[in-house]
Amino acid sequence: MAFVDLHAHSTASDGSDTPGALMQRAASAGLEAIALTDHDTVAGVAEARPAADDAGVELVPGIEISARMPGWGDPGELHILGLLIDETSPSLLRMNDLLLDARARRNEVLLARLAELHMPVSRDELEAISDGVISRAHIAERMVANGYVATTRQAFDRHIGPGGDAWFDKARLTPSQAFETIHQAGGLAILAHPVHNATEPIQQLETLIGRLADVGLDGLEAFHPDQDPAWVRRVQQWAGRFGLCITGGSDFHGPQRMGRPLNSQRVDAVFLDELKQRLAQRRSLNASSQVC
Ligand SMILES: [Zn+2]
Ligand SMILES: [Zn+2]
Repeated sequence: MAFVDLHAHSTASDGSDTPGALMQRAASAGLEAIALTDHDTVAGVAEARPAADDAGVELVPGIEISARMPGWGDPGELHILGLLIDETSPSLLRMNDLLLDARARRNEVLLARLAELHMPVSRDELEAISDGVISRAHIAERMVANGYVATTRQAFDRHIGPGGDAWFDKARLTPSQAFETIHQAGGLAILAHPVHNATEPIQQLETLIGRLADVGLDGLEAFHPDQDPAWVRRVQQWAGRFGLCITGGSDFHGPQRMGRPLNSQRVDAVFLDELKQRLAQRRSLNASSQVC
């Protein structure tokens, strides 16, 4: 059986492997294809492309966009994967710039608040551990290194996560804006790890997914390290109900960061084939219905 991994991060965001090293690692892990899905940026895709060719693994160009939907209850932040995108799409690159600006402003406020709380983290120390986007994971790592907290989890819970004393939210896209940009870039929009948006009762999340499907969502990530077999079944049922594709991946962040090893989810290559079929049908003018 052939396997793929459709969710992984590199140093272009908060992973610890460079895009090139990630392609090598994917080939060594026996994967047929690997999606590079860095937070808010496609900056790593250009480097990953030749490295994937050299390593003999198929690169699925991607991105992971944080979105928020005001007025639709509060499922928290939605992570939208864009898969099989054209990373040179002008609208995608425009969105990239907007997201990176919003992130930079958020980081500025967050670091100022931490300094006021006598937990200074300097821009220099963050730049030393990041090649690209500076995320809260980097800030948490420095907070541990500087002895302010015992673990990165503690950094998020007490200080830099929602409700923490240094928390500051960044401006975000709505899901529809994310879907539109992903579609303009020729890709498919997938809701990553729905378990992170679990509502009480769970039917609220189901309703939300139905609405997202109405406005352009193409698929759901069923296989993810945070989703147990009961969640996998639940997500598969929703996908069937709303005509959505299924994806999966390890959400790998490199050996030095949180997450599971590449290929730990054993995602059958057939799921990638189905994504490609859905795209082909979208492109075909005669398509009357979509797969998945
Ligand atoms: Zn995510
Ligand atoms: Zn991720």
